[in-house]
Amino acid sequence: MKNAQCKKCLNKFNHKDIYTIQQFQYRKEPTYQWSVNYFEELGISEWDSFCETCMSYYSKESEKEWKSKI
Ligand SMILES: [Zn+2]
Repeated sequence: MKNAQCKKCLNKFNHKDIYTIQQFQYRKEPTYQWSVNYFEELGISEWDSFCETCMSYYSKESEKEWKSKI
């Protein structure tokens, strides 16, 4: 059952394929706290669901932003 929805592209997908920004806890840099603040500014919370494509997009975007600030 495709009953989860990506907050960005609005595509429907399976619950087991949900990605959230909580996965960035495992990224070395930027720090997780930095990521949380970055996404908060975009109106994204730790509980929002995303598909894999959009999560990888945000992963790259946030990394770019992080690098431009240091
Ligand atoms: Zn998406």
